[in-house]
Amino acid sequence: MIKSTIAKTLLAVCILGSSLFASSEVNVYSHRHYDTDKQLFKMFEEKTGIKVNVVKAKASALIKRLASEGKNSPADVLITVDAGRLFQAKSQDLLQSVNSEYLTKNIPASLRDEDNKWFALTKRSRVAVYKIGSGTEKELSTYEDLANPKFKGQIVVRSSNNIYNQSLMAAMIAHNGEEFALTWAKGVVANMARNPKGNDRAQVKAVANGLGSVAIANTYYIGKMVHNKDASQRDAVKKVKVFFPTFKNGGTHINVSGAGVAKYAPNKANAIKFIEFMASKDAQKLFAEGNYEYPVLAGVKSSDLVSSWGTFKDDTISINTLGENNAKAVKIFDLAGWK
Ligand code: FE
Repeated sequence: MIKSTIAKTLLAVCILGSSLFASSEVNVYSHRHYDTDKQLFKMFEEKTGIKVNVVKAKASALIKRLASEGKNSPADVLITVDAGRLFQAKSQDLLQSVNSEYLTKNIPASLRDEDNKWFALTKRSRVAVYKIGSGTEKELSTYEDLANPKFKGQIVVRSSNNIYNQSLMAAMIAHNGEEFALTWAKGVVANMARNPKGNDRAQVKAVANGLGSVAIANTYYIGKMVHNKDASQRDAVKKVKVFFPTFKNGGTHINVSGAGVAKYAPNKANAIKFIEFMASKDAQKLFAEGNYEYPVLAGVKSSDLVSSWGTFKDDTISINTLGENNAKAVKIFDLAGWK
């Protein structure tokens, strides 16, 4: 009897303990690899007293982990740097709908999941970068035209394993169909200055060093190179400029970094608070000023540097389409021999 009372008391203490513990933390699985995020997590902790525990890995690894952990997953929030991966997490039933007046009111419908299973936190455009003085800007126009043989030996772009490229291809498919997209990919491969290697910054550096004349990169990397500790990045980026291509029948390719609440989040309320904070004015300002991304919250401006590159019209293809067409995009890259 005494034993069972002690056992019950212990159990009660454990439950109380874990719920107390649970109420003051949020577990974030994040693929964002930027310094601003550390600052944002700290700001959130100071504001709410909720501790942020972060697991950083590639989105594909985090999604696999969420799936294998199932109901036992400690994850509360999944953050990715691409809409395709958010879509994938949703398709695998790893996220849950969120009922947040703040998020539905402030994040445009085009930038969140239709079931509110994820929300964009920032936008980024995938652009062409050319060397100043090369005359290349006169040649640049649409994404479709990057397959034009006039660019033979001129294009540097990272591997097709990369989700940013997969989403660009997904948008190409949405605009022009699979057959055209395959022909396009073959054309771009034929125009490459080298086999794909390195990240977006490596492509910018290549163009700055005269290897090819057009690099494909996400906008914020340009900002990160301008303000970099590494002189080789600062020097390289001085030699280039941003050009905003458009789809023939659309705008400039936009992708998002976003977040969703994990299906079995043990700290659901904290998870929602966390995402609301990331979409708050202060956080959006930091995304814009510190990581050169485009804010999603109306009224928050891009950084002066980002604004200096000019304006563009967002492509109107739904962000969801980038995920829906991902498998087709991967297949087309393979068929085209885009390494
Ligand atoms: Fe990135």
